[in-house]
Amino acid sequence: MNIINLYEKSENLFFVGGIVRDELLGKKSPDIDLTFVGDAIEFARSLDFGEITQINEEFGSVHLKIDNKTIDITSTRTETYPKKGQLPVVDKIACPLKDDVQRRDFTVNAIAKNCKSGEIVDYVGGIDDLKNKTLRVLHDKSFIDDPTRIIRGLKFAVRFGFELDEHTKKLQDEYLQNVNYEMSFKRLKDELTDAFKLNKQEVLHKFIEQNLYKLLSADQRSAKEVQVQPLVDKYKNEIKNVWICYLGSFDLSNLSLTKTETKVIDDYKKLLSADLSSDFKVYKAFEKVEIESLILLAQTKKEIVEKYLDKLRKIKLQISGEDLIKLGYKPSRKFAQALDAVLQAVIENPTLNHAQQLDMVEKIM
Ligand code: ATP
Ligand code: MG
Repeated sequence: MNIINLYEKSENLFFVGGIVRDELLGKKSPDIDLTFVGDAIEFARSLDFGEITQINEEFGSVHLKIDNKTIDITSTRTETYPKKGQLPVVDKIACPLKDDVQRRDFTVNAIAKNCKSGEIVDYVGGIDDLKNKTLRVLHDKSFIDDPTRIIRGLKFAVRFGFELDEHTKKLQDEYLQNVNYEMSFKRLKDELTDAFKLNKQEVLHKFIEQNLYKLLSADQRSAKEVQVQPLVDKYKNEIKNVWICYLGSFDLSNLSLTKTETKVIDDYKKLLSADLSSDFKVYKAFEKVEIESLILLAQTKKEIVEKYLDKLRKIKLQISGEDLIKLGYKPSRKFAQALDAVLQAVIENPTLNHAQQLDMVEKIM
């Protein structure tokens, strides 16, 4: 059995969301978004193939494993936001498709396609908006219900070269004048991470130009745009958290950062006031920090950072404490000092060879 068999099983199964949008744009979609008009869990149970691996009664959704692939099928549903900006609660499961699409973020993400017949169902003018490259919310309270949609809009705008429709832009501006900081910052962080993963300078440009940084915290001040993308491009194989290279100098105190992300920010802040007056001091200050901290520091100290990344960090001491032990010295604190002194000399003169370095360390000892 394969997924095609699933599509033929019912007239009530639809692709909705990113997958339909991407297909109409002629792009490959990363995941399959399936919606069943009715009860998806019941539908999955009625199948004589596929294995149900997860059930979420509250949202009426089910994970179905077919051919070793897991597919997520949700029931059509309506939602309300009793606490604005927080997770919605399900109002009604198994509602008509026309009502389901109203809970979605933008019209271009609310187009459905029947899995069996291939018929496109567009209740909200999504196809026209796709043609006109326009992002339009489905109702005026959309950003109040879920402000993370603002960042989703940013992501889709840059990914596809779309613009916010005029009224949607006005609603966004109004929301940003009056942000509700009781929002779910976890969802905001997820969307931000995703948007900045695109590694496009344009994301940062719009983030600043459209005042989207106001979503981060109440006392967030505007920022001057700096070029981040060229450096991220250059060192992208080493960077684990692209988003933080773009946003690390903003106030991120509302986001729950991982241990590594916290270290990146703390190290960056320490480096801002560190003594970087010699290559050796730069070397010692930079060698233990993540590259993300250095990319952030490059906003104000680009030359020093680039010199370190391109040249200094490649300089390595050819001798170690073991050489000193072989020479008959007992391990002591002086070891580190002596090795550092040689390192300093090597940084100033990288042509010093192993024998010269050994000679030097012996003299110091
Ligand atoms: P991507 O290609 O990034 O996966 P997508 O549009 O498929 O884009 P998903 O996060 O996979 O995005 O969500 C699937 C669908 O669920 C969306 O197309 C949209 O219809 C709906 N959706 C997702 N997040 C929201 C949200 N915050 N508010 C309203 N609808 C949403
Ligand atoms: Mg998707």
